[in-house]
Amino acid sequence: MKFEVTILGSSSATPIFNRNPTAQVLNINEHLYLIDCGEGTQQQMLRFDVKASRIDYIFISHLHGDHYLGLVGLLSSMHLNGRKKPLYLFGPPHLMEIINLQLKYSETELHFPLEFKETNTEKPEVIVSNNDIIIETIPLFHRIACTGFIFREKKRLRKLRKEVIEQLEIPVPYFTSLKKGFDYTAPNGDVIKNEDLTTDSAEPKSYAYCSDTIYSEAYFEQITDATLLYHESTFLNDMLDRARETNHTTALQAGEVALKTNARRLLIGHFSARYKTLNELLEEARSVFPNTDLAIEGRTFYID
Ligand SMILES: [Zn+2]
Ligand SMILES: [Zn+2]
Repeated sequence: MKFEVTILGSSSATPIFNRNPTAQVLNINEHLYLIDCGEGTQQQMLRFDVKASRIDYIFISHLHGDHYLGLVGLLSSMHLNGRKKPLYLFGPPHLMEIINLQLKYSETELHFPLEFKETNTEKPEVIVSNNDIIIETIPLFHRIACTGFIFREKKRLRKLRKEVIEQLEIPVPYFTSLKKGFDYTAPNGDVIKNEDLTTDSAEPKSYAYCSDTIYSEAYFEQITDATLLYHESTFLNDMLDRARETNHTTALQAGEVALKTNARRLLIGHFSARYKTLNELLEEARSVFPNTDLAIEGRTFYID
């Protein structure tokens, strides 16, 4: 199953040095899920060939402008382009009020159903569960209510060991129950253990998106063992006081989060406008957690 994330924006606060405010798009089994939607997201989608018509879910972490000011524009384009199918939107309280106000005074009635679900910013909650994925909120610690999101692949069915199945001439109607882990009883009454007939499917992968937050161990348990962890890294660690004041994280701390939660790989982003180049941030995070990359716009990272 395809499971990958493309970075559309990685700047904090304002667009600068060709960096755009936060947005990412996940491709999960050819369905697109947009995470945050800073100003300029539509332009970035055009640039990197991300089709808005393929997005059915949008997740907004919090109501600072660098995470959602592109949303009404995107909804408006979907409307103008004749979208009919529902769009599922998740975000903190009051997001829908803002959207409704904009629609009201432009006298726009969307041609498609916009299904809004308020995120609970106090405790983790499963907000989506379909055949491919389970999505949960991660309450974070920012100046205003903020959540991250964790995307966990569903465990796949067991795989048949074809050569054994053929040898024993097990009829096709039994395959589904074998894949689900049941033993097989042969016509002569012999019971054959499931593990002799199937192998386990791959371990489910996960993508943890930690939006704006101060460093806190409170969310560690929820993101433990992430296949790919995205964590904001607004500042270098010499700005730790500033990071604390503004409820943000430093690159060094992001490396520590990845190390302590046993992430397989770390992606850092949400870079402050004070950094024209990003190498120092990368080096700092790598000094703690070597398997780190920068969330560079236009790059796609496989979650494997
Ligand atoms: Zn931000
Ligand atoms: Zn913020």
